[in-house]
Amino acid sequence: MESPTSPSTAISIPQLRSALNGRVIAPGDPGYDEARTVFYGGIDRRPAVIVRAADATDVAHVVSLARETEFELAVRSGGHSVAGHSASEGGIVLDLSDMRALDIDADRRTAWAEPGLTSGEYSTAAAALGLATGFGDSGSVGIGGITVGGGVGFLVRRHGLTIDDLLAADVVTADGRLLRADAETNPDLFWAIRGGGGNFGVATRLQFRLHELETIVGGMLFLPATPEVIQSFVAEADAAPEELSAIANVMPAPPMPFLPAEHHGRLVIMALMAYAGPTDAGERAIAPFRAVAEPVADMVRTMPYPEIYMPEEEGYHPIATGRTMFVDAVDRSVGETIVDHLQAGAAQMRVAQIRVLGGAMARVPDDATAFAHRGRSMMVNVAAVYERLDEAEEHGAWVDGFASALRPDPGAYVNFLGDEGEARVREAYLGPTWDRLRAIKGRYDPTNLFRLNHNIPPAFDGPGHRETSGSES
Ligand SMILES: Cc1cc2nc3c(=O)[nH]c(=O)nc-3n(C[C@H](O)[C@H](O)[C@H](O)COP(=O)(O)OP(=O)(O)OC[C@H]3O[C@@H](n4cnc5c(N)ncnc54)[C@H](O)[C@@H]3O)c2cc1C
Repeated sequence: MESPTSPSTAISIPQLRSALNGRVIAPGDPGYDEARTVFYGGIDRRPAVIVRAADATDVAHVVSLARETEFELAVRSGGHSVAGHSASEGGIVLDLSDMRALDIDADRRTAWAEPGLTSGEYSTAAAALGLATGFGDSGSVGIGGITVGGGVGFLVRRHGLTIDDLLAADVVTADGRLLRADAETNPDLFWAIRGGGGNFGVATRLQFRLHELETIVGGMLFLPATPEVIQSFVAEADAAPEELSAIANVMPAPPMPFLPAEHHGRLVIMALMAYAGPTDAGERAIAPFRAVAEPVADMVRTMPYPEIYMPEEEGYHPIATGRTMFVDAVDRSVGETIVDHLQAGAAQMRVAQIRVLGGAMARVPDDATAFAHRGRSMMVNVAAVYERLDEAEEHGAWVDGFASALRPDPGAYVNFLGDEGEARVREAYLGPTWDRLRAIKGRYDPTNLFRLNHNIPPAFDGPGHRETSGSES
């Protein structure tokens, strides 16, 4: 049996197999290529070993193995990292996708969930009991990754970020210990994992608050995209009751069968609407959006909450370049910038996604969690999706130009950050958040074992400690 080597030592695959409850997949094993594949295309890394952990004991074992051997450690829940952080070239992938237990206490409206569950799986099980926790806009994203970065989704104005519903977590830290993190136990760790990403340990269980939610009024609303329509749509989303969260995707209309053929390729707002409340109030809240312009297609209806997640194609691995930012207003001239850039772009799929924030998310103080952008009114993501890696330079330049034309202030949402360098990671943690995260990192991960992420280098305040600059992710 092959024993991959690292700078310091080797991993014995047979020993690892006998030590763990979960599956160990090494190069040459059947299923290796499938197991090393992540959501985004163009990421072709060959890890020395992939461990599909079965439980927290396996997780602790693998974390200790990575610490002792100095192999790079990639932590994966749903594999949707925008920066490709859950894939490693030559290192260990700790894959949590087999850890998907869910224990819902309907009376208390809480749930303990393992991180390998997808948002869709969690939401479907909770909806069967008339309950929901908000994650993002895609059912295939892992609850592990989205939660530790923040979680901005269809309930953001109604109930806040995913982390605002996080009550506790079990976390394996760099020393291999399994720690409880909640408001009373290790509160500094609990603060840090609510937005600080995978820097502080591996969450093996997450406890969430659930909200009563029988149905939503929601779904897709397609409007023709002109600068005026974009401006009016955003103004309506800002003025809407906070039960309504809207995501406006401005993009060339895809050739979907329910869109009239004459609109295919023309710019539309593909809006994803979600009113978390009674149907009659929801219909009233949606009406102003329907009046902004004659809809190209209107699929908004009363539905069980999980139906808001769009069906996803098995084996879809897009190559994408994107840029995330916060903006404070989308006026007519911003609308014009959006339309002009989307028209000039050449990528097969190109989009400006506008998420109007506020509501419950904004009522949480900036320093209550490691997500430091509570007061921002809108998040904008611009992205190009294309087929071949050799197109990356051209479309990357277009994304850069588009993003700078929007002239955002510094600021970035960590879960949408690509591999954009240290300065952009700092933009995710503005103000005192950065120093506080560095101090907590110094306490829980002083050697920066968890560094394949949007990295927060450890700081040390005690005598005799070494200051490191951390490593680039
Ligand atoms: C199609 C798509 C749609 C998206 N939509 C939204 C959205 O609407 N809202 C939003 O907020 N985000 C959204 N995201 C971003 C998403 O939240 C992040 O990419 C997130 O990191 C994905 O989580 P994952 O578990 O699937 O990813 P993974 O690639 O498995 O993990 C990403 C990183 O998270 C950390 N991590 C993962 N699991 C754990 C764990 N158990 N403990 C500690 N750290 C862990 C690790 O550092 C890892 O590198 C979207 C991404 C995609 C690709």
